[in-house]
Amino acid sequence: MTVPAALPDDARQHELATRLAAVRERVDAACRGAGRDPAAVTLVVVTKTHPADDVVRLAGLGVRDVGESRDQEAAAKVAAVRAALGAGAAAPTWHFIGRLQTNKARSVAGYAELVHSVDRPGLVAALGAGARAAGREVGCLVQVSLDGDPARGGVLPEAVPELADRIAAEAGLRLRGIMAVAPMGIDPHAAFAPLPGLRDRLLTRHAGADVVSAGMSGDLEAALRRGATHLRVGTAILGARPPLR
Ligand SMILES: *Cc1c(COP(=O)(O)O)cnc(C)c1O
Repeated sequence: MTVPAALPDDARQHELATRLAAVRERVDAACRGAGRDPAAVTLVVVTKTHPADDVVRLAGLGVRDVGESRDQEAAAKVAAVRAALGAGAAAPTWHFIGRLQTNKARSVAGYAELVHSVDRPGLVAALGAGARAAGREVGCLVQVSLDGDPARGGVLPEAVPELADRIAAEAGLRLRGIMAVAPMGIDPHAAFAPLPGLRDRLLTRHAGADVVSAGMSGDLEAALRRGATHLRVGTAILGARPPLR
């Protein structure tokens, strides 16, 4: 891999390297335990609230996939990282993982490779318009609510097929699969149990929509047991975040 000369090599770089290696160890061990190939798992490093310099450091450590959850912060970071790294081999792929307001969809469609948090038809239309305006194809996951309370994000499991069909029919978007967040206070193994069935049902309608985005710092092992293909890990790699306002 070509590493730009501008990459920092400092105490923070070493801290990130150590934490990243520990998470990769956890992923490898969990994959071994579940009989899965770690090479088939994408580690999305969630950099929200952390500076663009950390994304540049992570790129230097071989991180290809970066996740953000607020458009304003993400858009600025995308521009700063692009200025530091250019569009070459070290440039990361951006994932949008947070609740997305419709009026921010156009901006997100300009930089995100995969939007994990698609949860309503109006957002599908807005992302599609943004993707077409940018001349890009934007991948989308249907966010599924696992606690039966869509107020906390995601659609009920029975509503997944209809929203998936809308994404698949929207020019500029590509349906890639499903995403879920384990509800607080519930055993993640139990919470993630419906995921394989939801994935299989989606695949009968949409061949190739095989992404399962699930698992964060505290529950990635449970998610890998339930078929996660994409992990979204922040704290375990970057350290504690300042509380979100
Ligand atoms: C912040 C966030 C993560 C990362 O959580 P950690 O516990 O810091 O690993 C994952 N997914 C979503 C949707 C998030 O908002």
